[in-house]
Amino acid sequence: MTPSIRLGRLFGIEIGANWSLVFIFALVTWTVATAVLPIDVPGQGPLVYWLTAVIGAVLFYVCLLAHEFSHALVARSHGVKVEGITLWLFGGVSKLEGEPTSARSEALIAGVGPLTSFVVAALAFGIALATQGTALVSVLFSWLTFVNLALGLFNLVPAFPLDGGRLLSSLLWWRSGNRQRGVHNAVRVGRVFAYLMIAAGVLELFFGQVANGLWIAFIGWFLLSAAASEEAGSNIRALLRSVPVSAAMRSPVVTLPDWVTVEQFLESVAPNHSFTTYPIHEPSGKLTGVVRLSDLVRLPAADRATKHLIDVARPIADVPVTNPREDLSALIQRIGAGLEQRVLVFDNGALVGIVSPADVARVLTLRQSLTAAPKA
Ligand SMILES: [Zn+2]
Repeated sequence: MTPSIRLGRLFGIEIGANWSLVFIFALVTWTVATAVLPIDVPGQGPLVYWLTAVIGAVLFYVCLLAHEFSHALVARSHGVKVEGITLWLFGGVSKLEGEPTSARSEALIAGVGPLTSFVVAALAFGIALATQGTALVSVLFSWLTFVNLALGLFNLVPAFPLDGGRLLSSLLWWRSGNRQRGVHNAVRVGRVFAYLMIAAGVLELFFGQVANGLWIAFIGWFLLSAAASEEAGSNIRALLRSVPVSAAMRSPVVTLPDWVTVEQFLESVAPNHSFTTYPIHEPSGKLTGVVRLSDLVRLPAADRATKHLIDVARPIADVPVTNPREDLSALIQRIGAGLEQRVLVFDNGALVGIVSPADVARVLTLRQSLTAAPKA
């Protein structure tokens, strides 16, 4: 789930939201304004219902954030780097860089979310009791009690990508010592569950339960897309696990003098090589940067004679590096989208290769054809 809206930073953790949030915000507000408040507190004007519903929707997202932050903070205390939190619907997504190192860590990181939602539900229930004199406020907090209870229980369903799915996979991991098998099964359960929810939602729509039907179908749809990306990610990690960088890198590497002009490069160097990326060096032989063919051809013709490679290169300090023995799955987890900029491979201080996304894709295709699909 890629965040499209940046909301801010808390405890050093980036908070973002997916565009789907706008629709869900509207759906929550509409549900509270038309199906919750008018039934429990009749006789108010529409403006009162809608304003209270907007406040309720905002509080709903505060509760979601509390749930997600509990995951992120426990993950961080267990040595898993947290890239950020993206809100979508149930529970949002805490983006963890790297995986928990033990089944116990994974269970704690997953379990604290539902626990937090139950604590928030208890708090909301207390406020609902204390504000019984003000019917609108009390009803709103009763609704939040219900929502947080549902959030905690729903997340305990043992299906990926829900917390219950992670709890289940950590249990299977602990029992069998095989993490991948647990993940794979939990993803499959999650997909079946998502289809069932979409079907149930559509059925409810036909029976006139518009609000409920929309809700359930929406949740099912989100679960489906989340299960798909979970599976793709875990498949790629599994396929690249214990594949060394040396299997993907292009070697040997052609390095160029960094004082050559772009024009000289395009006329006399590029046509003679099949490479798309070239490290460049100063007269002493020390590497100074990396140039990509695609960047050089985009340079305006007027600049080509005057610009030298060093002027258009990506500085060497910004280029990610690895060694031939690093695991490809570990490399990708470590640098993520940095792969787009190419990775230089050094062995004992000597440049021995370059890795590009195309190289990793080639290895993935090969591994896929060699590995039979994992059994359920
Ligand atoms: Zn959660």
